[in-house]
Amino acid sequence: MKIHEYQAKTLFARFGIPVPEGAVAGTPDEARDIAAKLSQNRYVVKAQIHAGGRGKGGGVKLVESPEEVYEAARNLLGQNLVTPQTGPEGRLVRQVLVEAAHGYRQEFYVGLTLDRNLAQPVIMVSSAGGMDIEEVAEKTPELIFREALNPRWGFLAFQGGNLAQRLKWEGSLFRTGAALFANLYRLFSSLDASLAEINPLVVTDDGRLLALDAKINIDDNALFRHPEMEELVDPNEMDPLELEASRYKLNYIRLDGNIGAMVNGAGLAMATMDLIKQAGAEPANFLDVGGGADAEVTAQGFRIILSDERVKAILINIFGGILRCDVLAQGVVEAAKAVQIKVPIIVRLEGTNKEEGQRLLNDSGIDFAVAYDLRDAAEKVANLVR
Ligand code: GDP
Ligand code: MN
Repeated sequence: MKIHEYQAKTLFARFGIPVPEGAVAGTPDEARDIAAKLSQNRYVVKAQIHAGGRGKGGGVKLVESPEEVYEAARNLLGQNLVTPQTGPEGRLVRQVLVEAAHGYRQEFYVGLTLDRNLAQPVIMVSSAGGMDIEEVAEKTPELIFREALNPRWGFLAFQGGNLAQRLKWEGSLFRTGAALFANLYRLFSSLDASLAEINPLVVTDDGRLLALDAKINIDDNALFRHPEMEELVDPNEMDPLELEASRYKLNYIRLDGNIGAMVNGAGLAMATMDLIKQAGAEPANFLDVGGGADAEVTAQGFRIILSDERVKAILINIFGGILRCDVLAQGVVEAAKAVQIKVPIIVRLEGTNKEEGQRLLNDSGIDFAVAYDLRDAAEKVANLVR
């Protein structure tokens, strides 16, 4: 789960990581009022979208008066911001963060994430932070220092010292920097984050560390442990079909192709994706209706696929086990009754109550083709979209 920068900064502050003074605004008037209360005469106005690269895309404005804050906010709010990370369609800006701007001597990069090969969290730091960190990672990876963090011991004091030393921090900066890394790890592990990133972390003109940017992703699989995170969800930033699917606890992920796929079981769903691709086509989604799905949940899943305009053909691939074929067929028929189906459907049913499932589909008046095995199904559906 992604959250906005302003939300991540609130969490930073709670874990003792210094952030600039500021607040989020939904209108230019609010933005000006926030600026007027800040103890500074330079301000930064930042578009709040779930994508980075805003600096390069014109989503970060430095200005000098509350009136200019108003203008910058008026300009950004309602704009479809395109950055190197949004794709060409961009993202609609609905909120801006207004902060006191700070002059700084140097920008650093700090990121904490899971290293799946090491099966451990890893903290990465670099004194080449700022807007070009991707390029640094690609061309001069030796400028990025890494320290693996064994979750059994947690973050050890010497590791903070190592990192601070590599960044050539001395004196009080060494101490506050090492403590900042420890705090970031505390945040990362107590929130079950999958990413906690500060880019840039700056040393201000008066020698203090300050997180000018903040990015936190939370591991979706751990959200049940953090009910308080629910209020940080911004439905506007989510794919509407994924949002809808999450209401019914369906495992639905939007992909880029045009074949809608409804499958039970994540393994079978992945195998189905592979076969669709092998047959030369592209899936529009991953949908695992799950073993315990009933007719209603199946109907919701099918409805979600049907409401995706990109879908040009549908493949239903069910191995009837815990989810029986007849229950699935009931769900499909139910969903099909409510909408007009305009795309061809290929069905491959195998397993428990297969005949009953086929009969229900046959009697429903829905036009669909039967496939004999999985490869046959994938080839038939791929031919349809060709
Ligand atoms: P991103 O491009 O989406 O990662 O957005 P950032 O929050 O990192 O902002 C982009 C750039 O704007 C930063 O790298 C800084 O150079 C600049 N910036 C952001 N906040 C401030 C600030 O308070 N003062 C100054 N001088 N620059 C800032
Ligand atoms: Mn940044």
